[in-house]
Amino acid sequence: MKPIPFFLEAKNSSKLGETTVGNALLSSNQNQLWGERSSEIDTIVIHFMSDRFRHPRVPFKQDHLISIFVEYGVSSHYLILRNGTVLNLVPDSKKAWHAGGSIMPEPDNRTGVNDFSIGIELAGSEQKPFTQKQYRSLKSLLVQIKNRENIRSILGHEDISGERAVSLGIRQDCKIDPGPFFDWDCIGGKKLAEEKSSSAKK
Ligand SMILES: [Zn+2]
Repeated sequence: MKPIPFFLEAKNSSKLGETTVGNALLSSNQNQLWGERSSEIDTIVIHFMSDRFRHPRVPFKQDHLISIFVEYGVSSHYLILRNGTVLNLVPDSKKAWHAGGSIMPEPDNRTGVNDFSIGIELAGSEQKPFTQKQYRSLKSLLVQIKNRENIRSILGHEDISGERAVSLGIRQDCKIDPGPFFDWDCIGGKKLAEEKSSSAKK
């Protein structure tokens, strides 16, 4: 599985409905949906996304999902479609906007997880299991990222932007993704921050 470059920037001339990704960005006054990092990457955050409120019958269509990023000015490094296709939306070296209002679990407790993480969105919802093709692509993508970066934590958006983040006043709403259908065993389990102290010694 090789991620397909599909960067969310003005240069992207791929079709998006009646327009192009680039023109859609420009008309919302954005040149690209990322910023500069100021920390090393050591975390991967897994999410789900769908367009089930606007398009309940076709909630996972590529165009609809890309439109969500453009419209809300958010982003993620990768998007894994239901058929296993992996789109690379933001270069790893840049900071994507997938985890605003976030805090790492104890004892890590770093906030602003966007700065040191890679975000992976799977087309999915809390109502439908993910596909085997998605798990296959995700596993392969995780291996590729781990070969490049020193990854210490792999967790869900719900682990950094859930009830704890709300109770600490870091955010107002509680994220629930990747949700109950996500099979952590399928990717070798969640890796939480407490492992950091042992790996930091080496
Ligand atoms: Zn999320």
